[in-house]
This record gives sequence, C-alpha cells and structure tokens, in this order.
Amino acid sequence: MKYSIKPREIIHSLTPYVPGTPVENIKNRYGLKTVYKLASNENLCGVSENVIREIKENINEISYYPDGDALLLKNRLAKFFCVDEKNIILGAGSDELIMYICITFLEKGDNVIQSWPAFIRYLQNAKIMAATVKLVPLKNWKHNVKAIIDSIDNKTKIVFIDNPINPVGTYLDISNFEWFMKRVPKNILIVLDEAYFEFVDKKDYPDGLYYLKKFPNLIVLRTFSKSYSLAGVRVGYGICSFEIADWINRVRCPFNVNRVAQIAAAASLKETSLYKRKIAKIKKEREYLQKELTNAKIEFVPSNTNFILINVKQDSSIVYEKLCRKGVIVRPMKGIKEIENYIRLTISPKREVNKYVIKLLNEMRYQGLVWGQEVASL
Ligand code: PMP
Repeated sequence: MKYSIKPREIIHSLTPYVPGTPVENIKNRYGLKTVYKLASNENLCGVSENVIREIKENINEISYYPDGDALLLKNRLAKFFCVDEKNIILGAGSDELIMYICITFLEKGDNVIQSWPAFIRYLQNAKIMAATVKLVPLKNWKHNVKAIIDSIDNKTKIVFIDNPINPVGTYLDISNFEWFMKRVPKNILIVLDEAYFEFVDKKDYPDGLYYLKKFPNLIVLRTFSKSYSLAGVRVGYGICSFEIADWINRVRCPFNVNRVAQIAAAASLKETSLYKRKIAKIKKEREYLQKELTNAKIEFVPSNTNFILINVKQDSSIVYEKLCRKGVIVRPMKGIKEIENYIRLTISPKREVNKYVIKLLNEMRYQGLVWGQEVASL
C-alpha cells in the first residue's frame, strides 16, 4: 500500500517505546493464575487508604475538566519542598515533562548528552526533535562526568542526568555532581532526573533542590509513580527557575494532569510518613535480594533504587521468557548491547515473591542450566 501522508523525516528512524509486559498477557499466554510483574519499577506497596478515599469522594467530578493549573497540587508541593508554586511544572508522569523539555528547547542541529546505558526516553525524545544525541559510556557503572564535560560543544543544549540511573541503579555523588555543575556552561540546561531519589539512603547523595538557587540552568524532575505507588495515574513534577517553567508551560497541553491524578498526588503528600515506611520495606527487601544473589554467586549491580540489574550471562530474552512461564515478568536488557545479558528486576515489597524469584534464578543456575549456556529443553 502506498502512503500519501508522510511524517516528518526523522519519524522514519524511530520505533515505538516497548513497555514492560502486562500481567494479563502472560496469564493468558501461559494459563497462569498468579503472575508477578517486576518489570517496570512500580512501587508495589499499595496506595494509602486515605488517598483511595479522597479519589472516591471526588470521582463524580470527572465530568469536569481538571484544574489546568493544578493549584491544589502545586500548593502542596510548594509547601512540602519550600519552593514557590511558580517554580513547579507538572506532567502526566515525568516522562511527559521530558518530552515537553525536548519540544521547548531542541531543534535540528542541537545536540543533547546523556550517559549510556541510562534512561532511554531522553534520547528518544531528543530524536523526535531531530536533535543529535551524544551517548557517554558509564565508567564503573556510574556517570562519567569528566567525559560528559569533554563532550560538550557549542551545539549542546541539554545534558540529562538520571540520578540514580535507570536501568543501572547507581548514583552520582555530591562531589562529582558539584564538580560537574561548576564546569557546565550556563546556557546548557541540566535535567537532573531524580525519579528514584526516595530509595537512596546514602549520605553523599546530592539533593537536586538544594542546587536550584545556585544553578538557574538546572531542572529537577521527580515523580509520584515510584515512591507514592501512583504509576497508573501519571503525575510527575519538575522544579526549576520561573523562566524555565514559563517556557515549558507554553508547550504544555492545557489539562495534562488529569483530575484523579491531581487528587491522588495531592492526597499522597499528606501521607508521607506512611510512604516512608513502605519505602523502608522495599529497602529491606533490596538488602535481602542482594544478599541472596551474592550467596548464589549471581552477579548484580548494587542498587540504590527499587530495582536491581542482574547479570544472567546469557541472552536475557531467553531468561525473561523462562521466568514468564513461571509467572514472573522481568525486563530483559536485550537490545542494549552493553547490558544485553542482564535483566532488570523490580523489587517486590513481599518477601515470598522475592524468595520465589531467587528460587527460580537458583534453579536455572543449578539444574545444569549454567549461566552462559542455553539449554534447549527449557
Ligand atoms: N525517569 C526515570 C529515570 C525513570 O526510570 C522513569 C520511569 N521508568 C521516568 C523518569 C518516568 O516516570 P513517570 O513518567 O512514571 O513519572
């Protein structure tokens, strides 16, 4: 069939984002009753009852458009982080904010810099805007800030830093972050993506908000998807100078954060001590999983997030498939050549689920299915 409608030239080179496999797919495919989705770094601790109650109390209002300025949510965020409301920009997930940032600041001829492997949505959105992407390899699994600085040229518009890094789980420490910020030219936007900051408990982890006054070219992105278990309603936020927020607001869709999402996020901010306890549970399970992986001599990258990158030393799509058949969905890293023998496992808050995953990995390892050798019978 001949198409007469043509997309922009750059669109030909893009492929759609591949999300984690939904539970229902695997249930139907393998006739399983119970399937654990540990593929998309959601926080599986569950939403606070008060948040659910507030959603229910307001559900009849969904016939109205949401508040386009999301004043209640912005007001709560502003109080919570001691910033001004005009310094906050909201998105349907921080994913949407990444897209808005690229639309707002990039055009053909510009380049952006990010580490690799790191979050893939930066490069995908930059490409949509026909910008060039420079990928800087990680060094010992961490951002190589010196190499990032060396990659900057007069066409560089944005540097994306995910801290911690998805899918790796390591973080950039205070001294390296400060070293980097002092050297970046002030006309380059630094997007510091702290999607997983609540899961880090290291003293030398930099809090991006602390640097906003000193570095007006910085935007800090955060999300309600991870720590507040609200991935399904899509709310993310950026904190930055008024000037940057104002530019981005000019391209933002009028009602981008829906009514339910605004209520859920605003209500969540009243429940922070509950969520802190839930996050502590995940951290405890992280310790458990890492200890078990170490005992089983399975290599992994020590994590500061709610997921772990595990080296399965063989084609990760095969391990993914084997685990699916047993009711566990993970994220295979096949397709990213530097880590194509790795899977990314979201940490469940439930000990029995994590135990089950370790059991499956151990079985694969010791049933003669030594990592590195594919066995046809499975
Ligand atoms: N940044 C990073 C580093 C992420 O891992 C994710 C989620 N995968 C996002 C941003 C986007 O999160 P959300 O759109 O759910 O806020």
